[in-house]
Amino acid sequence: MQTYNAPLRDMRFVLHELHGAAPLPGQEEFTQELADTILEEAAKFCTEVLLPLNAPGDVEGCHYENGVVRTPAGFKDAYKGFTESGWGALNAAQKYGGQGAPETVAKLVEEMICSTNLSFGLYPGLTHGASLALESHGSDELKDFYLPKMVSGEWSGTMCLTEPHCGTDLGLLRTKAVPQGDGSYRISGAKIFISAGEHDLTENIIHLVLARLPDAPAGVKGISLFLVPKFLPDADGRPGVRNGVSCAAIEHKMGLKASATCQLNFDDATGWIVGAPHRGMQAMFVMMNSERLSVGTQGLGIGETAYQSAVAYAKDRLQGRSLSGVKYPDKAADPLIVHPDIRRMLLTMRANNEGCRALCVWVAQAMDRAALAADPVERAEAEEFVALLTPVVKALFTDLGFESANLAIQTYGGHGYIRDHGVEQLARDSRIAMIYEGTNGVQALDLVGRKLPANMGRSLRRFFHPVSEFIEANSNHPLLGKMVQGYARGFGALQLATAFIAEKGLSDPEEAGAAATDYLRLFGLVALGFMWVRAAVLAVEKLGGTEDEFYGAKIGTARFFMERILPQAGALLFTIKAGKASLMDMEEAAF
Ligand SMILES: Cc1cc2nc3c(=O)[nH]c(=O)nc-3n(C[C@H](O)[C@H](O)[C@H](O)COP(=O)(O)OP(=O)(O)OC[C@H]3O[C@@H](n4cnc5c(N)ncnc54)[C@H](O)[C@@H]3O)c2cc1C
Repeated sequence: MQTYNAPLRDMRFVLHELHGAAPLPGQEEFTQELADTILEEAAKFCTEVLLPLNAPGDVEGCHYENGVVRTPAGFKDAYKGFTESGWGALNAAQKYGGQGAPETVAKLVEEMICSTNLSFGLYPGLTHGASLALESHGSDELKDFYLPKMVSGEWSGTMCLTEPHCGTDLGLLRTKAVPQGDGSYRISGAKIFISAGEHDLTENIIHLVLARLPDAPAGVKGISLFLVPKFLPDADGRPGVRNGVSCAAIEHKMGLKASATCQLNFDDATGWIVGAPHRGMQAMFVMMNSERLSVGTQGLGIGETAYQSAVAYAKDRLQGRSLSGVKYPDKAADPLIVHPDIRRMLLTMRANNEGCRALCVWVAQAMDRAALAADPVERAEAEEFVALLTPVVKALFTDLGFESANLAIQTYGGHGYIRDHGVEQLARDSRIAMIYEGTNGVQALDLVGRKLPANMGRSLRRFFHPVSEFIEANSNHPLLGKMVQGYARGFGALQLATAFIAEKGLSDPEEAGAAATDYLRLFGLVALGFMWVRAAVLAVEKLGGTEDEFYGAKIGTARFFMERILPQAGALLFTIKAGKASLMDMEEAAF
């Protein structure tokens, strides 16, 4: 059985103490008390409703018969409870029936959903992303008609990008859209791997489909976005006749078995354009960017359950004796947690999870500022910051989430590899997060190729400046000066790597490509390190010489991160500076 209790104390720490800020215009009602109540209620729903369905949902999986998909037992009721309690509408626009909660709070709720049932989370998660794309690029008519039902969760949403021959390279996309002269289009083509493409949770499914118009230029510049409902709504907004979209099969996959991954055929399906012709990628990127941050949160969510499960097991399982002398003489052996190697694994998971949570809320806070800050300059700066950090959050968190699941299995030994304890499910479920929404390799290319040079390096400074300022202000901290100086060395490695890529990558893009994945990890470690030094300095301040288990553990975990994880920055710098030669010199025939 997976162990999970929502880490509410840490959530409150990052939300109110580490990143605490005055409410933005329009969010005044979301006081600290209300935010805490939301988190507590979400924790209850997730642990009482979603967690008990996680392992059975994995065993049962989804069922496919004659184009109909059934989700595992209990999912329908859970979804009903989820929408009736308003969880799907938490951070949706109030204009369409949403609650308009801050992204900071919503991301923490999302983390809990991912911790307790990632498969379930995909259904409302995709609906939210599709709503955002529609809200930002759809016509008023489409928005007024579809958004209220999507926000309420009565209808769900999908993103239909992938085709059999076209995954990362969307320029190869073949699905066609033919205008009908009445404002509608006929969509034809085959899409694969579509999450929530068909299921029994909602009365209608609203597909957002990328397709080409007859006069479309080749490549990604010729892609448009269309809204294609499963059932064409009648004038009263009720699902009417069946549209020309059908589910040919669901995929049998490694994990995430309760999430239906569908092959969809569009046969002259009726759809409506979202945004301008040939500008579909622009509209779809609203959904993709939102989903990338959500997928990062999936990694964090799984990482937390992996950690908590491993801690529970390490305290319970008796094996061997402590190297420093017997700790529990009345027992046949000491619990696993006395062993340094077990602690290495537990603390690695913990340091990564808490660091990611802090970084996630920092980015979410910038999302809120980008949308609501009164000052347009502040909004633009926040947007640049979010854009810079999006590939880092997506790839780093999902890499670390999978690493945590892997470490949890190792902590359990053979009992982690077999099904009974549920940690092998965490590894299987989390693996896809490194692949979908743009593989982590592609996120790294996005970081070095687009985000670093964006706005002549100005975006990068949105991260570098606060880090430099903090180091300058705290290097002589009476208790943590050494920690801050150690962190500064990691940051120095990132600065050197950035200069190397900027110089080499300009003349030879393959150099940037060869460095990309290591650079993203280096960037991510330095970003987590920033969260950790800030958290440690704050914890010392809060303690003020007194004792408190929470703040004491914060400082201890920060120390672990600085001494045992951040030093990887030096090795990554070496790898980056080695350049592309050892990768690219070998002839293709030698492989
Ligand atoms: C369970 C599941 C759910 C999914 N849900 C959805 C969904 O809801 N909607 C949807 O549209 N799609 C969905 N997908 C598809 C997913 O987004 C794609 O699988 C993913 O984008 C990668 O595409 P691909 O599988 O075709 O791999 P490919 O694009 O063939 O890539 C294979 C490898 O090559 C690398 N690569 C490719 N191009 C480059 C390049 N230019 N430079 C360097 N490396 C490169 C990739 O990083 C990867 O390692 C889902 C997939 C799965 C398995």
